[in-house]
Amino acid sequence: MSDADRIPVLSLTLGELEQWMEQTGQKKFRARQIYEWLHVRHARSFDEMTNLPKALREELAAKCRIPALDAVEVLTSQTDGTQKFLFALEDGNVIESVLMRYHYGLSACISSQVGCRMGCRFCASTIGGCIRNLSAGEMIGQVRKMAEIAGERIGHVVIMGSGEPLDNYENLVRFLRIMGDPDGERLSLRDITVSTCGIVPNIRRLAGEDLPVTLALSLHAPSQEKRLRLMPIAKKYPLADVMDAMRDYYERTGRRITFEYSCVEGENTSPQDAQMLADLVQGMNCHINLIPVNPVTERSYARPDRQGMEAFRRKLEKRGISVTIRREMGRDINGACGQLRRSYLNSSGD
Ligand code: SAH
Repeated sequence: MSDADRIPVLSLTLGELEQWMEQTGQKKFRARQIYEWLHVRHARSFDEMTNLPKALREELAAKCRIPALDAVEVLTSQTDGTQKFLFALEDGNVIESVLMRYHYGLSACISSQVGCRMGCRFCASTIGGCIRNLSAGEMIGQVRKMAEIAGERIGHVVIMGSGEPLDNYENLVRFLRIMGDPDGERLSLRDITVSTCGIVPNIRRLAGEDLPVTLALSLHAPSQEKRLRLMPIAKKYPLADVMDAMRDYYERTGRRITFEYSCVEGENTSPQDAQMLADLVQGMNCHINLIPVNPVTERSYARPDRQGMEAFRRKLEKRGISVTIRREMGRDINGACGQLRRSYLNSSGD
């Protein structure tokens, strides 16, 4: 059996593993043992699974694989210890992930696709389009590999790397189920944030999955007209519909909504923009994260200066809105979403 034909077991939920055990004539309880080896003890080979009969271990090794990511490049910030990773997948594609150190512990920012097809104007991840979706195992693999390199448990995960998680819905949900499983990776779903550009039907679907993760909307503009200038997806899913879906998410999950707002000089940070933004989120239980836009080599957007950022924040605060300017981690290893991968692809002649 070739490598590609073997089952990538990290992507299977416990239920699926149980089903597979039964189909292959094994005892169902073995699935739980394997699942624990994979997601609690983080075994790298079937050989390590010493409480399984040798014959089963051999069968597993023949029919399944435990995909591992290969760290091609690791950049470490001298100022705050933030690390950026370029990981190679089994098929040679590369993705990037970030590990941030906070007082409450490690937080991992992971990618959900190789590239992205959403086309946001200021974003580097979307420049070469979307190559493919990541499997749940590849998303788990990023968290695992970073924890392994750091030698420490990761307590928070944000899906804010390259890709649109709600454009890879099935794999995202599978990833969340395994991450939040008390028999699996044991993360609290509340400590996981899914960030979306606003795929309305899937925001509504996620609200019904019984997976109470924090949902962040990449808002970036206070009106449909302005949003369209930055985010082509607004054409398919107009702002009013996205806001309705976000309100619905809050009502059904009780999770406070986060809005990401990348500040672009001359585009979305005028006093009128602040007023419109305050009106837009009026009455919602939400938090706004202001992010000075990260200049991308291939794009010509600039960030407001410090005073500009502060003035915008104060305007929102005056309207009683919970708002912060995102602390920039790893300034010295700068590179917005997708930039590390882009520079790698550029240098390797892609
Ligand atoms: N596709 C998802 C998640 C990926 S990006 C989403 O749209 O939310 C994570 C966040 O970084 C998004 O809010 C995205 O709009 C923002 N972002 C991307 N490139 C940026 C840049 N150059 N400067 C500032 N924010 C950027």
